[in-house]
Amino acid sequence: MNASEKTAITALGKFRLIDRLAEIVELKQPSTVKGIGDDAAVIRYENAETVVSAELFLEGVHFDLTYTPLKHLGYKLVTAGVSDIYAMNATPRQILLSIGLSKRFFVEDVEELYAGVKIACERYGLELAGGDTTTSLTGLALHITAIGEAPKEKLTYRSGGKKTDLLCLTGDLGAAYMGLQLLEREKRVFDGNPQKQPQLEGFDYILQRHLKPEARKDIIAALAQQHIVPTSMIDVSNGLASDALHLCRQSKCGVRIYLERLPISSETFRFADEIHIDAVTAALHGGDDYELLFTVPVSLYDTICKELPDVDVIGHLCDASEGAYLLTPDNQAVALTAQGWKAD
Ligand code: ADP
Ligand code: MG
Repeated sequence: MNASEKTAITALGKFRLIDRLAEIVELKQPSTVKGIGDDAAVIRYENAETVVSAELFLEGVHFDLTYTPLKHLGYKLVTAGVSDIYAMNATPRQILLSIGLSKRFFVEDVEELYAGVKIACERYGLELAGGDTTTSLTGLALHITAIGEAPKEKLTYRSGGKKTDLLCLTGDLGAAYMGLQLLEREKRVFDGNPQKQPQLEGFDYILQRHLKPEARKDIIAALAQQHIVPTSMIDVSNGLASDALHLCRQSKCGVRIYLERLPISSETFRFADEIHIDAVTAALHGGDDYELLFTVPVSLYDTICKELPDVDVIGHLCDASEGAYLLTPDNQAVALTAQGWKAD
């Protein structure tokens, strides 16, 4: 659809736009007492702690609309929001979504964004309970508040790790960063020669990891099924190195991570090779992985290996005085440092 066929937001007006957005979602959660339509949403959880988290996404800083479809962006925003709730071992139930729109955006664009939000809401079993809509002078600004619940005894903080605990990680690392590098490379090629078609074949996995990441709802369910409450947990969104350091600092422990145990996909290795980047560096510092890093007592080693799908034991905590190190296969110890590649 080109711009001349689209509906200007001013033609519809803010309130009718919100009405249209409200139609996209269905209210099913018993805990949503009041959703969109009043001055505030009303939420009630029985016998549970309320968990709340926020994420801000700015055009040009966190996403680039030249290669990010709005539907994917909507999905990713919800993933980022709920990932923090899962990292507390909690269940997300509602989101609030606020948008700042510049004149470049039409009603259909906002609906496309919300189509992605809707798919994610269904996937994670939650609902849109409100938000705010305003004008932006620069680009698209998106803010999500995710709200969830957990019984007090299941809530998992960053601070509960003990010095002999195993360090466990879901999924694999560095792929989202590599997907971003691939898209940025093709954007540069296109900017130089708009006739050229992007070369994205063979890299579906890393592209999907950047454009449409998934939060680990499945792992939270698997942990519950095994009656495992991790001693500590964090979601890996800034890179393993910096997030592992957060976890150990708050748990007042040191850490040992074994380099050969870092899960890295073959596509990540292949593209890292192609652009002469070290895949391990991408795994340690890449960010945007939305995987879960958690600790459990060492007695759970067999259960973790046998019963939890897609989880690797990548190291262990130790005494704080022993520091935080990555151990290479030839037994060198490299100090972990938090050098995220992105501004945040
Ligand atoms: P107020 O002027 O009190 O802030 P609004 O007109 O902004 O009220 O919002 C009216 C209702 O619409 C509220 O329930 C609000 O949560 C909801 N809402 C506003 N913008 C959005 C949005 N972008 N997405 C979802 N709900 C929204
Ligand atoms: Mg408002």
